Amino acid sequence: MSERDDLHLATWLSAAFGGADGSVTPPIHQTSLFTFGSYREFEDRMAGRTANAIYTRVQNPTVAAFEAMMARAEGGEAAVGFASGMAAISSTVLAFLKPGDRVACVEHVYPDSYRLFERLLRPFGIDVAYHPVSAFEEDADLLRGVRLAYLESPNSVMFQPMNLPRVAAHARRHGTLTVIDNSWASPVLQRPLELGIDIVLHSASKYISGHSDTVAGVTVASRELIGRLRDLTLPLLGAKLAPFEAWLLVRGLRTLEARMRQHQATADLFVDRLSRHPEVTRIHSPGANTVPGLTGRSGLLSFELSEAVDIPRFADALRLFRLGVSWGGFESLILPASAGLAQAGEQNSMQRFGVPARLVRISLGLENADDLWADLETALGKSAA
Ligand SMILES: *Cc1c(COP(=O)(O)O)cnc(C)c1O
Repeated sequence: MSERDDLHLATWLSAAFGGADGSVTPPIHQTSLFTFGSYREFEDRMAGRTANAIYTRVQNPTVAAFEAMMARAEGGEAAVGFASGMAAISSTVLAFLKPGDRVACVEHVYPDSYRLFERLLRPFGIDVAYHPVSAFEEDADLLRGVRLAYLESPNSVMFQPMNLPRVAAHARRHGTLTVIDNSWASPVLQRPLELGIDIVLHSASKYISGHSDTVAGVTVASRELIGRLRDLTLPLLGAKLAPFEAWLLVRGLRTLEARMRQHQATADLFVDRLSRHPEVTRIHSPGANTVPGLTGRSGLLSFELSEAVDIPRFADALRLFRLGVSWGGFESLILPASAGLAQAGEQNSMQRFGVPARLVRISLGLENADDLWADLETALGKSAA
């Protein structure tokens, strides 16, 4: 595919990986192992002289098709698929950390990433400190002695964007490895590797899939950094992407750009109308060029409601927006922070980082934007005192 780099993203995502028989989708290699025709072939493969697949925990052609598309979409040299976004996150950071290392993480990070750091990594002697976006941008010495900076831009729930080229420059000065969760923007709206970030990863369950029918993850970086994941955490933690899920993700990628443009148009309309609604006190939704390299608004945003609105009543009055976690699919969803804040357990990052109780997050799907707005406006009218 690399000889066609002049083509736009949507064009080559549409053209990539048909079958040898003329089929326009890749075959699903639903097999655990691959056999060899001779002792010599087997020996050559084990010695690393050839590269064909041996066993699906480490290599599978359908998974490889997805990985190649993701690597190119993010402008990276290589990619590796995982069973979930959390598998991508854990398998990525564990490949580079050892006891005694320090991690700097952005505040309002995805709640399960926070729990990974607090409940799994900290007991193994890895120290994680959390900093606001402004500290990463403005404190040139924040990353001194830090092995890995774990970033999201924008971050979760509050959607605060970060100046990635500036943070990448600080990190380079201190030899800190930078990892970013790019699930919110997708490579359509932001390509962090081109902004100087070392490793980009996704919950592919969201926009990459786009159809709310699979849980998966992927990490993209240089051949060298991905090589370390392939050598250590992919085979040894074993959280591989399944061939059928990879096939669904290839299907999702075909329409990624068209879907992102639609999500963006609906989000632009919502931000415009929300900003003029009397019961909306604040909107959290970074738009195009808020920070360098961010080229648009995705469909995941949050806003705060005045005291006049009964939030449970508002949520129950919606007909098109459904209550649920996750996001990035064709369907519109609402997630009131007050319900998330009520989540039991000692490691609730929303409480720690101070999410406003009057905040609601919405994921704008692919429905007609005017239908969605009418639904939200009607529900607000029914629930405001
Ligand atoms: C959903 C999500 C994850 C976790 O991904 P899974 O596929 O559910 O494991 C990580 N980061 C962000 C920003 C997410 O929204």
